[in-house]
Amino acid sequence: MKRTLSGILFIFLIYTQICSQIINKEPLSPRITGYNIEATLDPSEKTVTGNMEAFWVNTSTGSVPDVQLHMYMNAFRSDKSTFSRESRHTHWMGNSYDGYIDITSCTDRQGNELLSRLQYISPDDGNPDDSTVLRIDLPEPAMPGDTVFLKIKFVTGLPSEIIRTGYSGDFFFVAQWFPKFGVYEPAGMRYRKESGWNCHQFHANSEFYSNHSVYDVRITVPFNYVVGSGGMLIEEPESGTDENTKTLYYRAEDIVDFAWTAWPGYKAFNDQWNHVSITLLIPEERTAQVERQFKAVKNALEFFTENVGPFPWPHLTFADPPLKGAGAGGMEYTTLFTSGSSDIIPEWFHLPESVTVHEFGHAYFMGIMATNEFEEPWMDEGMNSFFEARIMDKYWGENSGYINHPHLKLADKTISRLTYVRSGYRQVASNDLFSWNYPQRTYGMMSYNKAATWLYTLMGIVGEETTNDIFREYYRLWGFRHPSSGDFINVVNEVVARDHGNKFGNNMNWFFDQTLYGTGVCDYKVAEISNRKYEDSDSLYSSTVGLQRTGEVMLPLEISVRFSDGDEITEAWDGKGRYMELTYTGYRKVERVIIDPEYRIRMDVNFVNNSMTVKPDTVPLRSFTNKLLVLIQLFISIFTL
Ligand SMILES: [Zn+2]
Repeated sequence: MKRTLSGILFIFLIYTQICSQIINKEPLSPRITGYNIEATLDPSEKTVTGNMEAFWVNTSTGSVPDVQLHMYMNAFRSDKSTFSRESRHTHWMGNSYDGYIDITSCTDRQGNELLSRLQYISPDDGNPDDSTVLRIDLPEPAMPGDTVFLKIKFVTGLPSEIIRTGYSGDFFFVAQWFPKFGVYEPAGMRYRKESGWNCHQFHANSEFYSNHSVYDVRITVPFNYVVGSGGMLIEEPESGTDENTKTLYYRAEDIVDFAWTAWPGYKAFNDQWNHVSITLLIPEERTAQVERQFKAVKNALEFFTENVGPFPWPHLTFADPPLKGAGAGGMEYTTLFTSGSSDIIPEWFHLPESVTVHEFGHAYFMGIMATNEFEEPWMDEGMNSFFEARIMDKYWGENSGYINHPHLKLADKTISRLTYVRSGYRQVASNDLFSWNYPQRTYGMMSYNKAATWLYTLMGIVGEETTNDIFREYYRLWGFRHPSSGDFINVVNEVVARDHGNKFGNNMNWFFDQTLYGTGVCDYKVAEISNRKYEDSDSLYSSTVGLQRTGEVMLPLEISVRFSDGDEITEAWDGKGRYMELTYTGYRKVERVIIDPEYRIRMDVNFVNNSMTVKPDTVPLRSFTNKLLVLIQLFISIFTL
């Protein structure tokens, strides 16, 4: 029995390596973990019964006494779980705590039953009522290079209130559903001084940090169900254990999580973009949205391929859940993601497109560059929000990426900026401020909006081409690894030095100290324009422009100065002083001054005071734009209380 089991597991490992050549010629990742799961959905009991073989390789230089696994469905087990406690402020949760995951059997490669060695731990908050992290005390420590095999039988009860995962009637979105290894970080990895497990509990904010893994998953569902997953369909459906069910075999390589969805009401559409076969699952009544959705995902594929790196997988599935499953919308599982559309959303409102572009983008920031969302959420959500805004700008109009109505145009990037600008809850991103420690009102602003806004500001300073160079290099160096903030900053410093020499100083740390690691406000204003006529001349003027830095943040700026003869010049300011004067003598007056006329410094919290004109009847167009922005700020503040 023991020998047979270990033989099966060994064959599974070999098979995993052979199969890696089916989809990708060379493995993209080190493949420290792998999973082979048989999953059976019981639609009446709302459960998934799983039979799993999994391995973890000790790649560290020391012995490891245990393994730690995520058991995230237990977040929905009671109102005392860490997720439930935190969710009172972020997600709507009723009183039906009916999600769970139970392990019914757990054996090692020798067939030893390990159930008595299982223990729930709460490394993040010590909550004794949380059971989302499982520690298995190994019978023998794993030595360097050892592979730990586990065979686990489990039952997952899906929650009736879908928050990312769960069911509604006959609709199922099955995510965070199986025991999944944490990441064992050797000393020196990211900012870790000692080796150890990085296995966070399930939180209301943030979910992802895992090794890139290979998944072989066989899903058994009733015959009439339409299934989508993050894997490539290797075997066409065949009958399950009885003639009313079917089993689909999926394989996914080098992704950080595996989720799936099943619902009889899905209609499947297929399209192709270069090497990528794309499947969209959407309710039949929303067929009119299909073209929009494919256009959005193809635009995102093109933009990321050109400006970051190639999409490495040959398959991509995205689902648009029905209204009753809307809680599963807007989620990312790398090669499976969910959008959110409706048959009543008009063409001019690009909300579904922005959701699709955003959730697709996570395939790069957390899927390929597998950052630790718990500890540095900006590296996933912030970078992704930045790219979402750039893509919406490029393909749907620079000022109309989000809304393109004859009477209202709104850029995606404007929403991010205004959310940041209007927030009174700025905080510093630091290595000990993890996602669950943020005060509720700061998490989203800091992780998404502020980061997107300072990334735009960085692009404003170093230029778009250098920004693309940075992300291409980031992808090249850190794809299928686990970069930290420091790794990204190193890439920025190298690429900026390569493209610009020391134009911005020895490195860009001054920028990150003020933006990522700073809480300061950025605000520059035109304080005054004065034109004094020389007493002994009819038309000779001494003109002074006063510029003021009212915030703490110091960034290099351009200033546009227009004279009464129509001449317009651009001045540079390092932005460091509290006050700066520009003086001119000539037979002309200074008529108008604009700080940062191209709106490159998008962290500036007040664009209205960036310009001044001496002729009220020739108010520059920008001033009107600024007033419109203020109105939009007001509008957004009303709806984001
Ligand atoms: Zn996101």
